[in-house]
Amino acid sequence: MTTDCHISIAGLTKRFGTNTVLNDINLNLTPGERVAIIGPSGTGKSTLLRCLNFLDRPDAARITIGDLSVDAASATRTEILALRRRTGFVFQNYALFANKTARQNITEGLVTVRGWSRAKADARADEVLASIGLTDKADSYPAALSGGQQQRIGIGRAMALDGDLLLFDEPTSALDPEWVGEVLDLIRQIADGRQTMLIVTHEMQFAREIADRVVFMEGGRIVEQGPPAQIFDAPEDERTRAFLRRVT
Ligand code: ADP
Ligand code: MG
Repeated sequence: MTTDCHISIAGLTKRFGTNTVLNDINLNLTPGERVAIIGPSGTGKSTLLRCLNFLDRPDAARITIGDLSVDAASATRTEILALRRRTGFVFQNYALFANKTARQNITEGLVTVRGWSRAKADARADEVLASIGLTDKADSYPAALSGGQQQRIGIGRAMALDGDLLLFDEPTSALDPEWVGEVLDLIRQIADGRQTMLIVTHEMQFAREIADRVVFMEGGRIVEQGPPAQIFDAPEDERTRAFLRRVT
């Protein structure tokens, strides 16, 4: 899963009506870098992740993933699909297809976005199900799975694409406390493989543990960033300090 792919987000601005939700965000990730994004609710963290693969269309941005560089002003459908092939997205609420089994949830994107044959996608899904420890749930529907198992399938679906960048949007915040541990364990395992990832999380201890860099956002801007020890133990900006006092 390691990659030599540099990632750059340049001049990302996003408005909803007159509300500027992201204001000139610039962020680069080196290959294998694990970056945690923290910040108050409503600050644009989800929108930032969604803009990276055009689930929300940025008003301005140049998104570069390796040799693919897409400018929001001129992005074509082909370029957007190419971006999506290179990024896996893990949603807060899992966003599984209720009428598809665990295996089908994993194969769906491989068949429709990647154009893989059913047989090849099934083989990849079985490999992923084994690595997330859910082989025995391959034919189960989401309703028959615990929240933790559903989110592990959500993560497996993103992993199966074997993209250059994994995006996690508060992957444990919809879970009952009893399921949080198994999901964090799985993300830890992926992080240990030096998968390049951007993870929005409210689990500060987890961010400290797995991230190479922590980015604090407020009001649609990056306020401060640095190694976990610097951000958590010696934040320089008063807004970062105030946020950390509230959440820790
Ligand atoms: P966070 O993930 O940091 O909590 P969001 O990215 O979800 O923040 O939201 C940032 C701001 O953008 C909020 O003010 C939110 O109400 C607004 N917003 C998000 N999505 C939409 C949308 N689809 N339409 C209008 N406003 C939106
Ligand atoms: Mg959010």
